Amino acid sequence: MNNMPDNFENEPVEQAGDDCILLDRRSFLRLGSAAAAVSALEKNRAHAQGGAQMGNVPRENWSSTLRYHTDHVFQPEDIAAVVKDVTSTAHLRALGTRHSFNAIADSNSAQISMLGLKTVEVNAAAHTVRAGAGVRLGDLAIEIDRQGWALHNLPSLPHISLAGCISTGTHGSGIHNGNISTAVREVEFVGADGKQHKLSREHDPATFPGAVVALGAIGVITHLTVDVQPRFEVAQVLYENLSFDALESHLTDIMGAAYSVSLFTHWQGNKADQVWLKHRVAQGAKPPMPATFHGATLADKKLHPVGREVDATPCTEQEGAIGPWYERLPHFKLAFTPSVGHEIQTEYFVPLDKGYQAIRAVETLRDRITPHLLVTELRTIAADDLWLSMAYQRPSLAIHFTWKPEEAAVQELLPQIEAKLAPFDPRPHWAKVFTIPKEQLQRTYVRSNDFRKLVQTYDPNGKFTNEFLRRLIL
Ligand SMILES: Cc1cc2nc3c(=O)[nH]c(=O)nc-3n(C[C@H](O)[C@H](O)[C@H](O)COP(=O)(O)OP(=O)(O)OC[C@H]3O[C@@H](n4cnc5c(N)ncnc54)[C@H](O)[C@@H]3O)c2cc1C
Repeated sequence: MNNMPDNFENEPVEQAGDDCILLDRRSFLRLGSAAAAVSALEKNRAHAQGGAQMGNVPRENWSSTLRYHTDHVFQPEDIAAVVKDVTSTAHLRALGTRHSFNAIADSNSAQISMLGLKTVEVNAAAHTVRAGAGVRLGDLAIEIDRQGWALHNLPSLPHISLAGCISTGTHGSGIHNGNISTAVREVEFVGADGKQHKLSREHDPATFPGAVVALGAIGVITHLTVDVQPRFEVAQVLYENLSFDALESHLTDIMGAAYSVSLFTHWQGNKADQVWLKHRVAQGAKPPMPATFHGATLADKKLHPVGREVDATPCTEQEGAIGPWYERLPHFKLAFTPSVGHEIQTEYFVPLDKGYQAIRAVETLRDRITPHLLVTELRTIAADDLWLSMAYQRPSLAIHFTWKPEEAAVQELLPQIEAKLAPFDPRPHWAKVFTIPKEQLQRTYVRSNDFRKLVQTYDPNGKFTNEFLRRLIL
């Protein structure tokens, strides 16, 4: 039984929601115990009313840097159960694999984990795959590759759910590659009315662009239909020590030198420490592997992006080894922990044509940034028309920070970085930590009003809204 009392949100909840976007350790513990007390109250009440609460979905995000403010997690296995869960509770948030770093998926009342919906149906004639919201990208990839198909791109990790991925504008890299959401052709979701809705690129051009990167605000996505293309092979070739000077007049050449390109830097020494070139390789061909690349030298061993000294076993194969698209486009293998594990992430998107200046602006803070940083990654994303996409109508350079789990230091640094990037109109990644206020977000996301109207249509009473959305967009 997945029943929840209707008036759940009316419980007194102290200090919850967006407070937990980034906390120092003391506040984290304080809020954690307040949340636990409220959760215990909610749990008792739900039990008293015949409600269910779920035990096996962790109550924190993947990196353990954020604790959710509810213990109630619905775990439907099919659409009928989703409808029942949505209609039986006043407020809930959809949950994927919990890889977001801020309170975007948090709720004071209930979450609905969609990992039970994971079917994969390829339509070869239409060049699409219809998949359950909760399928992990890595599992989806293996199945469609087996049938001869591929997605156009993947993020650095294949561990995340399809719906979680496309709801936040998750991206990989490549001058000509839009984020993963741009491949979505149809979104099926259960709205606040408990009915099933479908919006498609073809039939709903007025609303569809707002319904893909929708931050979980218009309903619970059950299935997505996504464009596929014939499977392809990729080889990664890495270089070390690319001078930032080379970016001044060659940023687009460098970022366009392969199908997908990432630069990694610790901001010291006027350089990117590593360059990852992911070449699409035609059958029978080999990737180009010259000894130097814009002055950088060919890596002499497999590397972890965080540094030469870090064990690179979790990383996808490099050194020009050709392999399937889904084992090269992500940086990390599905069977291993991606990145570092206990970390915080931040990312800002700036117009690509201002990318060099933006990099140099951040670099001025290098001696403050580096002590708290695991690594920075620089990637490019093609422009798109999805209203809340970080690359909406502008080819973008994304400046990403993987931080040590030092909440207070990160909290102090973010406004400084945002101030340096202000002249470049930065758009923060919706799923990572930032301190840019609502007014600035409204200015840069020029379709915010349209998005709010769309949310009103499918969720007039805020069933799917949480503190994060209220504070930043709705
Ligand atoms: C190690 C690591 C590496 C990363 N690398 C990248 C990267 O390369 N590129 C990049 O762009 N991002 C990256 N991210 C961020 C990540 O892609 C996003 O946080 C993504 O949203 C996580 O998906 P999830 O399934 O964990 O969703 P969650 O974090 O669980 O949820 C994210 C959002 O999606 C919504 N949502 C989830 N499922 C549904 C559903 N069924 N219906 C409606 N809404 C739903 C939630 O309500 C929430 O708003 C990385 C994160 C980690 C931890």
